[in-house]
Amino acid sequence: MNREADVVIVGAGLAGLMAAQEIVRAGREVIVLEARDRVGGRVFSQEIAPDVVVDLGGQWLGPTQDRAYALVKALGLELFPTYQEGEHVVFHQGRLKRYQGAIPNIGLRALLDIGRAQKRLDTMAAQVSLHAPWDSPHAREWDSITLEQWAAKTMSTHAGKRGVSLFSEAVFAAEPNEFSLLHTLFYIHSGTSFDSLISTQGGAQQDRFAQGAQSLAQGLSEPLGDRLCLNAPVRKIEQTNDRAHVHTDSGAFTGKCAIVAIPPTLAGRIDYSPPMPPDRDQLTQSLPHGSVIKCMSLYAEPFWRERGLSGMATSDTGPVRLIYDNSPANGTPGILLSFLEGEAARTCGRMSQEERRQAVIDCSVRYLGERARHVEAFFELNWSAEPWTRGCYGAHFPTGVWTQFGHALRAPVGRIHWAGTETATRWMGYMEGALESGIRAAQEVLEKIS
Ligand SMILES: Cc1cc2nc3c(=O)[nH]c(=O)nc-3n(C[C@H](O)[C@H](O)[C@H](O)COP(=O)(O)OP(=O)(O)OC[C@H]3O[C@@H](n4cnc5c(N)ncnc54)[C@H](O)[C@@H]3O)c2cc1C
Repeated sequence: MNREADVVIVGAGLAGLMAAQEIVRAGREVIVLEARDRVGGRVFSQEIAPDVVVDLGGQWLGPTQDRAYALVKALGLELFPTYQEGEHVVFHQGRLKRYQGAIPNIGLRALLDIGRAQKRLDTMAAQVSLHAPWDSPHAREWDSITLEQWAAKTMSTHAGKRGVSLFSEAVFAAEPNEFSLLHTLFYIHSGTSFDSLISTQGGAQQDRFAQGAQSLAQGLSEPLGDRLCLNAPVRKIEQTNDRAHVHTDSGAFTGKCAIVAIPPTLAGRIDYSPPMPPDRDQLTQSLPHGSVIKCMSLYAEPFWRERGLSGMATSDTGPVRLIYDNSPANGTPGILLSFLEGEAARTCGRMSQEERRQAVIDCSVRYLGERARHVEAFFELNWSAEPWTRGCYGAHFPTGVWTQFGHALRAPVGRIHWAGTETATRWMGYMEGALESGIRAAQEVLEKIS
């Protein structure tokens, strides 16, 4: 088989599908090649009981994610607010405390320490360029240390530093010694502010999809018809003078341009002819993904609500350090979302499924009491074990990577253009970033082939 189009897109995640929509709208021919047997990539919704859909991948939207909200509206999808009524709990130094509002009660000194760190990070983040972080005033200095080293130098309390590691795990699914301070600052700026990244109401965890976030990808893919090929992993891209030939196991697809809309580490596993320039190749060698196992425990009802609890818990002790009420909009059944992130995901990933389930449920019991033991069903997805994702929520930049190779992140190589949330300027790592990147890459190729 050999098919031709103006543009061949690799990957039917939100970035690739958004790019396809833009190209079709411009009256050009497109083919989308997707390795999996489904669209959506890192958004993946499952119906676990009749009319009960859970998101095992991306699930929340929040303010300033304007492209995503516009798409929700255009596709006629329904959102509802994340459940936040009642008190949250914090498990701190072996004690469980209830609290209201955004700030857990972990002692004045630690709170002041975290507050000061947050303010400093926000101030520094505002100085980092979203388009060229490597050109920012203190780029080299900030790219030479990790977030952990910065916290060790500037923070004074152990509890404060544990707070920074919770931030790191919750936002990057990685430990604070795994990525640079510059990357932390870029990410904060990209996602508006520290507060906006971690908050529910008014932040990135504000709204949920009634039918699951994958409905966004399904809505984008429907008009593509047979221009979308599933089960078509791309193995090789060959560039000639005027064409890009994209090879799958079932044949080649030829375009005037190709858009590779997959995470950099996966883009680095495709064979290119001619080979990628050294900077681009070394960039893709340098961008690991975080580790997350997203777990869902199902209960007959959200029993914590009767006790005036929101179901949200944070903790200084693992393996689960963050849980949310993830019940459907009507509140039945009760669903608790537990995150295993960073090191905890790696440690628990080595356990048997039963041991891991038990470890997760033990944490829920610790935070919400004995009734949490009566789980009716348990679902989990280890994103590091997914061959077409290989870890989540996305790529993080270890020390030195932004300043040495950042310039190669979006720069086209001949007829190959790059998309995917990792290439976004706003909301990198999020669905919004994926959509931004798809629109940008589509504009680039449309200009080139016009
Ligand atoms: C557990 C989890 C929770 C998250 N929570 C949120 C959240 O609440 N809010 C939010 O905004 N974001 C969240 N995210 C992140 C969000 O899901 C991603 O940023 C976004 O979906 C990325 O889209 P993408 O198109 O850039 O990449 P992907 O979704 O990774 O799409 C890439 C596609 O390319 C395919 N592919 C890979 N290699 C090849 C190949 N060689 N040939 C052909 N196809 C290939 C893949 O199968 C995939 O379908 C979460 C992610 C996870 C995993």
